[in-house]
Amino acid sequence: MEDCLFCKIVKGEIPSNKVYEDEYVYAFKDIEPVAPVHILIVPKKHISSLNKISDEDEALLGKIFLTIKKIAKELGVEDKGYRVINNCGKDAGQTVMHLHFHLIAGRKMGEKLL
Ligand code: 5GP
Ligand code: ZN
Repeated sequence: MEDCLFCKIVKGEIPSNKVYEDEYVYAFKDIEPVAPVHILIVPKKHISSLNKISDEDEALLGKIFLTIKKIAKELGVEDKGYRVINNCGKDAGQTVMHLHFHLIAGRKMGEKLL
């Protein structure tokens, strides 16, 4: 989608530190990491938020989570642990309207909300 920051990153129009790419999924380092490991995993297809996923995205979401697992393993944090976060909408603080999951690891996490 035009004017979407993460679509531009996926297309390489804006540089990013890529950690994984396939036909459907792109993953890159967050520009303002909150932990030693902070990766963003996004579908290449523009979906503005979790609110906008549909039945046709079922396999894509599976691919995203398999990618998260793969990256956690590659970065050596699978055993120590990690957190996966999706911010959906205003109250959650979503700032980029292209579906993305944060993979955060490398330090003991603070507050648990649940
Ligand atoms: P949100 O707050 O929407 O869940 O997460 C958006 C994330 O995108 C933030 O953690 C922010 O640091 C990251 N971000 C914003 N702009 C850029 C950018 O241009 N490049 C990269 N790599 N990350 C970005
Ligand atoms: Zn987009």
